[in-house]
Amino acid sequence: MARPRRQSKPAAPSAEPSSAKVQPVSLKGIPASPGIAIGHAFIMDGQQSPIAKEFISPEEISLQINRFEEGLSRTRQEIVGVQKKIEQELGGDQAEIFNAHLMVLEDRTFIEEVIERIKNEHLCCEYVVSSVLRKYIEAFSHIEDEYMRERTADVEDVGNRILRHLTGARRQSPAELQKPVIVVSFDLSPSDTAAMDRDHVLGFVTTIGGPTSHTAIMAKSLEIPAVVGVDTATDRIRSDDLLIVDGTSGRIIINPEPSTLDHYRELREKLRTLDETLLRSRHLPAETPDGQRVQLCANIEQPGEVASVMAHGADGIGLYRTEFFYLNRKDLPTEDEQYEAYKQVAGAMAPHPVTIRSIDMGGDKFMSALRIPREMNPFMGQRAIRFCLARPDLFKVQLRAILRASAHGKIKLMYPMISGLEEVRAANAILEEARKELSAENKLFDEQMEVGAMIEVPSAAMILDLLAKEVKFFSIGTNDLIQYSLAVDRVNEKIAYLYEPAHPAVLRLIRQIIQVAHENNVWVGMCGEMAGEPAFALLLLGMGLDGFSTSPVNIPRVKQVIRSVPTFRAKEVVKEVFRLTTGKEIEAYVRTRLCEFVPDQCEL
Ligand code: PEP
Ligand code: MG
Repeated sequence: MARPRRQSKPAAPSAEPSSAKVQPVSLKGIPASPGIAIGHAFIMDGQQSPIAKEFISPEEISLQINRFEEGLSRTRQEIVGVQKKIEQELGGDQAEIFNAHLMVLEDRTFIEEVIERIKNEHLCCEYVVSSVLRKYIEAFSHIEDEYMRERTADVEDVGNRILRHLTGARRQSPAELQKPVIVVSFDLSPSDTAAMDRDHVLGFVTTIGGPTSHTAIMAKSLEIPAVVGVDTATDRIRSDDLLIVDGTSGRIIINPEPSTLDHYRELREKLRTLDETLLRSRHLPAETPDGQRVQLCANIEQPGEVASVMAHGADGIGLYRTEFFYLNRKDLPTEDEQYEAYKQVAGAMAPHPVTIRSIDMGGDKFMSALRIPREMNPFMGQRAIRFCLARPDLFKVQLRAILRASAHGKIKLMYPMISGLEEVRAANAILEEARKELSAENKLFDEQMEVGAMIEVPSAAMILDLLAKEVKFFSIGTNDLIQYSLAVDRVNEKIAYLYEPAHPAVLRLIRQIIQVAHENNVWVGMCGEMAGEPAFALLLLGMGLDGFSTSPVNIPRVKQVIRSVPTFRAKEVVKEVFRLTTGKEIEAYVRTRLCEFVPDQCEL
């Protein structure tokens, strides 16, 4: 369908412009990925396929309403067609679901709300549809009744079909941006972020989200400065506004004064210079001045990040989040496909270790290929190892691929979200079956491949001595350990102030994990975001942590801390910290001490 002309603002230019003559506004959010980005805003919407917020002229209103009605009618034809086909192939029961879809499509409240908003707000129909749908999905997902809650998937499905018809070829995802912009959106899913390209996305800002959401983690991997949880972002920022995104402090400045712009350009330069200086030491070992060697590894989400891992001087890969393999695709990855990817990573990193984590689906990451109904509390639901044990068919495909890849390098395997002994035993039993199958098929694998458990659920921390008998290593996942021990949803910006890595309860738990692991002669590392924060790295060093694993971009600064602080001094810091009583005091104290030991990192 031909696109009608809009009364929209000019497209964002590709270079930084001179400052606009509008009042600057400063907003505060949650720092998600460090660095400074300066560029024009590109407003997007929709959780799965961001849609541009475009304004229309009053004359265009009826045209937009017609487009909406035409979109509904085409979607109806499409659904009826699919329904008929499924009925013929699989029978009436399977086609029943489409009746629910047709009901959503004919819902008068929905249709009238869209028409009213087009008329009143002068916005293009696809933007209004996606915004109204989001409201419905949000409301449905909180309904107590499970049957009703599961209807969220129907609304989402129908919504995506309508939007596909409305946007046609001009539907834009972050992956398709033509010019470098700062993406501003209500939300971006981990899969949206995974599809971003650094050449076109200078930075991003979202209304919702927490500091350790997988969207934030993905931004770090891509080295894209990002701020999340800016609650007024999509209301205050307009397409084409000039923005400064300070992903280190969490500040956003809209249409800054020239002097502010100069200040941030200078700061961006300073950061660049420090990073370049630190990168010159990438070949040096992660060793304290008094000879304590620790392992400093990288976290990756995709095989393509191996080059960055090496460039940042990592000792290996401490966490390979394999679930990203399953996102952004309609089918499931086959064993061979996974094997090729894991083999490529293992081979490129050899002889350094690569710790592959079995899929951690659920929480804030959902597979497109499986239509799994949303749960009431996805982070406490059928996530990670729970999902794998409920779907041993999928799990075994991955385990076979990992085992086969272990013949090509030093692969270790670890299970996420272990909460009790039975889970480790059940997972190991499936691993054993996979080993037997491969042996019978004469396929090679490393029979000594080490198997470890992530410690990210408080119950696992409390039974570490028991788990120590079942696994070869532990990796502390603080992103989850903090959320589960403090009861703070890691993706909820409203309570992000309670998400405190330095909370005395968290520090006591970590100290206990390290102590008990060592009493049982088991190696213990950390792969949560806390390990990549220089001030906390100082503390963890003093607690005796054996290994750190973090986004490649954090490695040089953590290495600088390790190489600057003798172990006995780090231990003194720990002693002092355990005399303090609140997270805020502790964080302030470790930051002061970091400044003393590593003045370079002080003002950043
Ligand atoms: C963690 O929970 O700390 C972790 C490393 O895993 P993820 O962030 O993928 O949940
Ligand atoms: Mg986790």
